[in-house]
Amino acid sequence: MRPYILAETNWKALKDEKFDLAILPWGATEAHNYHLPYATDNIQADYMTAEAARVAWERGGKPIVLPTLPFGVNTGQSDIYLDINLNPSTQLAILTDIVEVLNKQEVYKLLIFNGHGGNNFKPLVRELGYKFPKMFISFCFFPGVLDKDLYFDEKGDHADEMETSLMLHLRPDLVLPKEKWGDGASKKYKIKSFSEGWAWAERKWSEISKDTGVGNPHKATKEKGERFFKDVTLKMGDFIYELCKADTNDLYE
Ligand SMILES: [Zn+2]
Repeated sequence: MRPYILAETNWKALKDEKFDLAILPWGATEAHNYHLPYATDNIQADYMTAEAARVAWERGGKPIVLPTLPFGVNTGQSDIYLDINLNPSTQLAILTDIVEVLNKQEVYKLLIFNGHGGNNFKPLVRELGYKFPKMFISFCFFPGVLDKDLYFDEKGDHADEMETSLMLHLRPDLVLPKEKWGDGASKKYKIKSFSEGWAWAERKWSEISKDTGVGNPHKATKEKGERFFKDVTLKMGDFIYELCKADTNDLYE
């Protein structure tokens, strides 16, 4: 039983406990190329938040990891079989209820750990911060924690070399054999402004990728996954510890 994982701990341990920070991992249920499980984002979020919370806990921080929310925003994949979409407005409703509990029970810090590129928490966090002024709400997205180019050869953003390496490290039993992996080839918009990053429109996933992947996974290895996982969770662990200890009335220098 890990005392910083809510799903594992109990009332005996919690009735007189006080945590500094709640961590909410948020994933998605969606196709990940041919070879990775639909729960890939949830599995990554589960393992990463648990390990980062352990690092912070052992340094003396008091985080509590809430159960992972398994559905994310998949509006661009409505024709991909059993990709389950949760609309942004539903996410706001769920977050509002969770924040209401935390606020009432005086757990005034919340970190949303995002594990899925389609989730966009910035506008939601702004609105919640406005409604719950005592709460300090933040979010992070793990592929941005470190420079991916220092760990992986091929660029990508979905079921790519990074995600395949991570899953080979975390749950190799759920990864199909290498001869079943698609090449993750994807199409870009003909309108170049979208590729330059200053204009944005949602991609229709089934038209940009045959195997649903974006990024070639073929150079993925368990060792690369292990190294990335370790470094990301160490850095996140430091961040979580800092958040736990931070005085939210004295955040700027
Ligand atoms: Zn993913």
